[in-house]
Amino acid sequence: VKAAAFDYVAASSVPEAAAVLGEQPGEARILAGGQSLVPMLAMRMVQPAVVVDINGVGGLDAISVRDGALCIGALARYSAIERSPLVTRHAPLLADALRHVADRLVRNRGTLAGSLAQADPSGEGPLASLAIEAVVVAQSTAGRREIPVGDLLLGPYETSLQPDEVIVEVRVPIVPARRHVFLELARRHGDYAVVSVAALGVPAQDPGTWRSVRVVLGAAGPLPFVAEHAGALLAGGPLTDAAIEEAAQSALGAAEPASDARASARYREHLVPVYVRRALGLLRDRWGG
Ligand SMILES: Cc1cc2nc3c(=O)[nH]c(=O)nc-3n(C[C@H](O)[C@H](O)[C@H](O)COP(=O)(O)OP(=O)(O)OC[C@H]3O[C@@H](n4cnc5c(N)ncnc54)[C@H](O)[C@@H]3O)c2cc1C
Repeated sequence: VKAAAFDYVAASSVPEAAAVLGEQPGEARILAGGQSLVPMLAMRMVQPAVVVDINGVGGLDAISVRDGALCIGALARYSAIERSPLVTRHAPLLADALRHVADRLVRNRGTLAGSLAQADPSGEGPLASLAIEAVVVAQSTAGRREIPVGDLLLGPYETSLQPDEVIVEVRVPIVPARRHVFLELARRHGDYAVVSVAALGVPAQDPGTWRSVRVVLGAAGPLPFVAEHAGALLAGGPLTDAAIEEAAQSALGAAEPASDARASARYREHLVPVYVRRALGLLRDRWGG
């Protein structure tokens, strides 16, 4: 199948791109890395009247630290993010998770901002961004607003972005001394996740105990989600085998796995506690908790 006809606009600035989106709300789409949009166009899963290419907008690929946050521009490619010393230092989970996306060709073009706009429930970008409490900065002709990723992701392939909003940046608050583990099961390396899990912990002063623990799951529900109760069970104490088991069962209780081409819901139900157990065990064993 070939894409249906559309107008192509090469925007030279974010205000110009936002203005085009605003002129035809819901009928125009931003083109970033094209790794999801182009296949969707080719399969006619989307048929926008206008495609607004932002690849010519200068400065949108920057990765920097500003005001206590790691700032990742909307055109920063996965490859640049996973190799950035700033990301490795301030958001290492993100670098670890993005290495699981597809292959080098896709990662040389695809962007974190694009994956957040795409909101694939199996996507590593949405899961990692939720885990590290990232915030998306979106711009329209009315101005800019910040949207926490937890509020951005509404459902599979559904976000709270307005049709005239362009993501310009993803901001990650810098949390000192946070440890992490990211694990994923995929049928082959680079395939979409069958199940993925991120475990983050901030050690407490008492050796072996954790001030806070955050468990986040991907491909185990319509959206990546934070297993809030599992984290609450673990906060303040040591990661004993018994505590980890209780958290793993709690995470399973919060999961809503579905069947798809990659795995059945039942297999995912089996995997969720296995992967949560493994991730928390590694958090303890690697980081001395
Ligand atoms: C072979 C292959 C394998 C893949 N495997 C994986 C995988 O294992 N894991 C995974 O997570 N993903 C995978 N992907 C998808 C990939 O991660 C995409 O790159 C990503 O989903 C979209 O980023 P993009 O920059 O390419 O966005 P595009 O494809 O350009 O856009 C995607 C959507 O987001 C919108 N959009 C993009 N940027 C913005 C912006 N700045 N503001 C507002 N809206 C915007 C577009 O309008 C479009 O609706 C794969 C893709 C391919 C082709």
